[in-house]
Amino acid sequence: MDQRIQEIITDLKNYLEYLKGIGIDSLFVSGNAPQEVSQSKVQTLEEIRRELGDCRRCKLHRTRTTIVFGEGNEKTKLMFIGEGPGYDEDVQGRPFVGKAGQLLTKIIQSIHLQREEVYITNIIKCRPPQNRNPELDEIQSCHPFLQKQIQSIQPKMICALGTFAAQTLLSTDAKITSLRGRVFELSGIKVLPTYHPAYLLRNPERKREVWEDMKQISRCMAEEDGRD
Ligand code: URA
Repeated sequence: MDQRIQEIITDLKNYLEYLKGIGIDSLFVSGNAPQEVSQSKVQTLEEIRRELGDCRRCKLHRTRTTIVFGEGNEKTKLMFIGEGPGYDEDVQGRPFVGKAGQLLTKIIQSIHLQREEVYITNIIKCRPPQNRNPELDEIQSCHPFLQKQIQSIQPKMICALGTFAAQTLLSTDAKITSLRGRVFELSGIKVLPTYHPAYLLRNPERKREVWEDMKQISRCMAEEDGRD
């Protein structure tokens, strides 16, 4: 084999080994199905939860009460991804169960779905102290598990709730105001960012935009159903 090609293959192998070493064992490649880095097959949610275990991969384990993995229908076509657990979620071990969660339940019902029919999780699985913003190392520690959850569920669509979810999923630092209401594509999955329910509690005048976004999700889902 040409020596240059051999060098490229060696470099690539080393890079993939490095990614594996820091916990990233799968890659999303734009426009394609998720690409496996290791030989690992798509895991069930139960297996992913077991692998996460009593996670101590980042500093949040010191202050959390409970890991909030996510809940809902593992065969759903629609996932909601928020930022991270707050006080109520940390106590109960379930996502979106506080005031913002009650609003999210109503938002889901506004498109004639029940909470139990979709899957709800967060970018990070442990509550940051005083509900501060998640830090980069915390997001990075959790990201392989979020990716595995998405690969396991294989939804047709993801609704990203708020800045952190939208920016993390779409690998962008664009503002939520410029991202919301637009449909992006991530490895064949449609991603629609909208405002976070907690933001809506503080800014109820924005609810109309979220209602528009939900109607758009409903239309996209109907289109996907037509394709199945
Ligand atoms: N806010 C989030 O982003 N996630 C939750 O689970 C609760 C509040």
